[in-house]
Amino acid sequence: MADLPAATEEIAPAALERGRLLFVGSCEFFAGAMTMAQLPPARGPEIAFAGRSNVGKSSLINALTGRKALARTSNTPGRTQQLNFFDLGNGTLTLVDLPGYGYSAVGKAKAAAWTETTRAYLKGRPELLRVCLLVDSRHGLKPGDEDIMTLLDKSAVVYQVVLTKADKTGPAELARVKSATAAALSRHVAAHPVIRVTSSQTASGIAELRAELAALAPATV
Ligand code: GDP
Repeated sequence: MADLPAATEEIAPAALERGRLLFVGSCEFFAGAMTMAQLPPARGPEIAFAGRSNVGKSSLINALTGRKALARTSNTPGRTQQLNFFDLGNGTLTLVDLPGYGYSAVGKAKAAAWTETTRAYLKGRPELLRVCLLVDSRHGLKPGDEDIMTLLDKSAVVYQVVLTKADKTGPAELARVKSATAAALSRHVAAHPVIRVTSSQTASGIAELRAELAALAPATV
């Protein structure tokens, strides 16, 4: 595994507090886009959340923002097929919830349409600072994840793996998945080396992820 110095994963108390303050503030849905033409003008730097359907993406966004139903969970039809834009802290950061992939229930035509818009967004959005690539801590990286990683390598967009549902994974399994993921990431040029381990259920790792994302925003909070 890529042996990272522990310090790179540690977060200073002041940074944790900055993250808490940003995420406790206002957060509003302001646009949904199924096509490139529907993409809203950027309101500020953007962080996108990507992952397979059911990985726990909506739950993570809700946990980060402390809202129960800001991002609709996958069993709620409607918003799940589009890119959803949330304004955090009045233009401080925009969170972009990308459609989940790897699940065939949407039908081929629809899947192709979102793939095209999502890919175009990931390739050509100057305001996109980082992609959080959510991966189920029980399963590790899947082929769909590798596709996105390759695309992001090519477009030089930094992405960070966030392991989800850590409460469902025992320590040995978690260590194994983390280490296999780190090994895979070391082969990708745009991959951020730090893997965050989270549970939306217990909130473990949520404060750290908030801090890390807040650190990407301009220093207004
Ligand atoms: P999405 O399709 O990626 O948006 O996934 P959801 O957020 O809708 O979550 C899919 C399922 O996983 C739901 O049944 C959630 O309750 C469950 N889930 C999500 N995050 C966690 C977590 O951290 N721990 C546990 N135990 N279950 C979770």
